[in-house]
Amino acid sequence: MVDLETFRQETRGWLEQNCPESMRTRMVLGEDIAGGRKRTSTNPDAYVWLQRMAEKGWTAPTWPKAYGGGGLRKDEFLVLLDELQIIKARPPLVGMGISMIGPTLLEYGTDAQKLRHLPAIVRGDLAWCQGYSEPGAGSDLASLQTRAEDQGDYYLVNGSKIWTSGALHADWIFCLVRTDTQAPKHEGISFLLFSMDSPGV
Ligand SMILES: Cc1cc2nc3c(=O)[nH]c(=O)nc-3n(C[C@H](O)[C@H](O)[C@H](O)COP(=O)(O)OP(=O)(O)OC[C@H]3O[C@@H](n4cnc5c(N)ncnc54)[C@H](O)[C@@H]3O)c2cc1C
Repeated sequence: MVDLETFRQETRGWLEQNCPESMRTRMVLGEDIAGGRKRTSTNPDAYVWLQRMAEKGWTAPTWPKAYGGGGLRKDEFLVLLDELQIIKARPPLVGMGISMIGPTLLEYGTDAQKLRHLPAIVRGDLAWCQGYSEPGAGSDLASLQTRAEDQGDYYLVNGSKIWTSGALHADWIFCLVRTDTQAPKHEGISFLLFSMDSPGV
């Protein structure tokens, strides 16, 4: 195990060599990468930065290495954040993959789901969006009406989602759907992941 001061020196040296100059300023509108290719960054350096950080697993520094993450301990993660801040480095990857569905899968996903989705999220391969709100279900999310029927090897989803930030650029959605219409309002809701390129979306 590398001691913390050594880790800091190695991290500082690596960042010095690998963080492009133009990534050492405040984020510029349109230059961020939120995953996927439907919306591209206007700064090519952003892709260099993303690729280098993703190779080290540092787009998700504390996620296990088995899922593409950096496998850092909390104290190492704090050192990394500190060193990134010192050079004013931008986050290499933003969006709902890295911030929302990734951590959720880490906590609740099956091994198959983790292996399928987490490494792709770390690399920024896909953009994700969040499908919770509906025209009649905002703060009172349990009013959601979108239904998903189990058809054996697929779910048939019917309903409307609204306020879905980034939907037009998203490749996948994590979506709340009603799978048991007989259950009390706050139950019978499932968390479905599917491609935004699915027929009918
Ligand atoms: C910029 C933006 C991005 C968003 N992105 C997403 C997204 O990506 N995915 C997604 O699923 N959703 C998204 N949302 C939706 C958001 O998460 C909320 O669910 C939604 O804005 C709240 O629902 P509503 O607008 O229908 O308001 P309502 O739920 O109808 O609320 C209207 C007003 O009534 C008040 N109110 C509601 N219930 C009560 C109560 N019981 N007691 C007292 N007051 C109450 C609320 O505070 C509010 O002032 C986004 C919203 C915004 C503004």
